[in-house]
Amino acid sequence: MRVLVTGGTGYIGSHTVVSLIENGHDVVIVDNLSNSKISVLDRLYQITNHNIDFEKIDLLDIDLLDEVFVKYSIDCVIHFAAFKAVGESQEKPIEYYKNNIGGLLNVLQCMRKHNVFKLVFSSSACVYGTPDCCPIPETAPIRPQNVYGRTKAICEDILKDTSNADNRFSFAILRYFNPIGAHESGLIGEAPNGIPNNLMPYITQVAAGIREKLTVFGNDYPTEDGTGVRDYIHVCDLADGHVAVLNWLDNNKGYCIYNLGCGRGYSVLELINTFEKVNDIKVNYVIGPRRSGDAATCFSDPSKANNELNWKAVKTVEDMCRDSWKWECYARSSNL
Ligand code: NAD
Ligand code: UDP
Repeated sequence: MRVLVTGGTGYIGSHTVVSLIENGHDVVIVDNLSNSKISVLDRLYQITNHNIDFEKIDLLDIDLLDEVFVKYSIDCVIHFAAFKAVGESQEKPIEYYKNNIGGLLNVLQCMRKHNVFKLVFSSSACVYGTPDCCPIPETAPIRPQNVYGRTKAICEDILKDTSNADNRFSFAILRYFNPIGAHESGLIGEAPNGIPNNLMPYITQVAAGIREKLTVFGNDYPTEDGTGVRDYIHVCDLADGHVAVLNWLDNNKGYCIYNLGCGRGYSVLELINTFEKVNDIKVNYVIGPRRSGDAATCFSDPSKANNELNWKAVKTVEDMCRDSWKWECYARSSNL
């Protein structure tokens, strides 16, 4: 299949490009490089030995996007491109609604015009907000608690409404839990701009000596060791989930929703301890106050994806910690 990957030079997109190529698909990447670097393409070449078609385009420019659909014969779209920082989304709601919703609408318009009817959409566990109970099934209530989460929930509604109105479409909505880790080569990984918001990039930057210490946001949660519990998933497992769902799109119309997670929670302290152990390096940390809006515990019920997509996350939290560190070391030594 020829797959158009929007946001394909970004963190999850680049790993998915590798999985797609390894599974025999052709790829064209569209990205405006607002949160990724052109050098990812060279590193993708080193990993895959394939030259990947790339168009530097902003999805909000529908004329340029239309030209991509004219130039390439596309069978399917995987739509990663979006802004993703929760804190920033609260400060810049207009930019977030415009980019995340406007981008999807332009993609859908071009798809319909060029008779492309299959799309995979990157949603997030944050559409569930603070869950009533864990593990969280796909049927749990949708109540996002920040602008970013609301952009994802609105996009999900747009896809449902569009598939209800036009039965040629098939949409797969994937709700990711907490992707961490990197490709085992260490050549691609997450490259946050500025101070990281998320736990794993913060841990690797402290271990690398770029930041002095990690603040653990609260140790008085009703969890085993008092720190927050999340469902970390290796980004390569997540990437494989996208390849697995392409079969569903081939054989079904309408829309489907799948949680992509491991189905087990790790606490902040467990993650720090595992990172220290597998990499034989110290992570300096202090306990601080809770971060506003954080849930105590959040982990998925991934059984629907396991059963229906024949997909399962297989990499361990040790793999995640080892590969994250390998990538951090490579990125530092290469000045990325
Ligand atoms: P990322 O920022 O690394 O990648 C997104 C890519 O999209 C970047 O390369 C950026 O340059 C590009 N982009 C953004 N707006 C664009 C536009 N208007 N036109 C063209 N390109 C544009 O993010 P990621 O971590 O790879 O996330 C991919 C998707 O998964 C996003 O939709 C994100 O919201 C979602 N998601 C991510 C996480 C996570 O923890 N990383 C969790 C849940 C969901
Ligand atoms: N966390 C932390 N210190 C940090 C960043 C995160 O203690 O500097 C905690 C956070 O409170 C949560 C977990 O690590 O319990 C995962 O946070 P992240 O932001 O990575 O994911 P999310 O909370 O969005 O699921």
